[in-house]
Amino acid sequence: MFRLDGKVALVTGGTRGIGRSCSELLAQAGARVVMAYRGNAEAAQEAVAAIEAAGGQAEAVQLDVADGAAVDAVIKDVTKRLGGLDILVNNAGIARDQLLLRVKQDEIDQTFATNVAGAIYCAKAAIRPMMRAKAGRIINLSSVVGETGNPGQVVYSASKAALLGLTKTLAREYASRGITVNAVAPGYIDTDMTSSLSDEIKEGIVSSTPLGRVGRPEEVAAAVLFLASDEAGYVTGQTIRVNGGMYV
Ligand code: NDP
Repeated sequence: MFRLDGKVALVTGGTRGIGRSCSELLAQAGARVVMAYRGNAEAAQEAVAAIEAAGGQAEAVQLDVADGAAVDAVIKDVTKRLGGLDILVNNAGIARDQLLLRVKQDEIDQTFATNVAGAIYCAKAAIRPMMRAKAGRIINLSSVVGETGNPGQVVYSASKAALLGLTKTLAREYASRGITVNAVAPGYIDTDMTSSLSDEIKEGIVSSTPLGRVGRPEEVAAAVLFLASDEAGYVTGQTIRVNGGMYV
């Protein structure tokens, strides 16, 4: 079940954290995975080496998803070289956490440029080869805070809520073309993004999580693999929440 042999997948932010777990799992399921990263070339090399050592096929490409022209160029190149693009995982994301009164314009601009515009640029470039193939999977990484809100995360939570609107609209626009579009909304997952939170905040999150622990990147990747698979062919416009019961 959930095999992806012969498929080509692009995972943005695919070389660290949740994205890396998604890349590893999709490759393990047989997909050829292209991992886009913004700047950390060392993490990118490590991710490629780990996938290849496990017998998978992967490559890393430097790509800032906030640069629409660069996104177009990379997706055209991938499609041409690898013969198509079957799966897009819009995972690249940043968080600039501030209370509303302290938020600066560049924090709003950068967050929306990466988290929202980046996902739209990638979806727009990917939808052409998917329409030609009359098949495709787009999976957007939202967040629990896109649905619940969270003090101190006004910009981030707004960007993650925007991804749910994007997911629902694209699901409706491209269902007739055989393309499904879904979201995965993680709770608190142990990655570099969350490592800087204070112990007090972490303890607060764990105590408000019914399963009583933080999540692991591979637990999010499992939901992404399902949505990427043929078995999820009748699922579109939905959000799978991987959050330990934090929001029910
Ligand atoms: P990390 O900070 O650990 O990793 C982020 C990845 O995204 C890196 O590979 C980074 O590349 C890449 N990236 C960031 N900006 C860009 C950009 N402009 N263009 C291309 N790549 C970029 O994040 P997580 O793994 O924790 O999070 C992954 C996704 O899951 C995000 O969308 C996040 O919002 C979401 N999420 C995470 C949660 C958590 O608890 N961790 C909870 C809910 C949602 P590089 O290595 O080059 O810097």
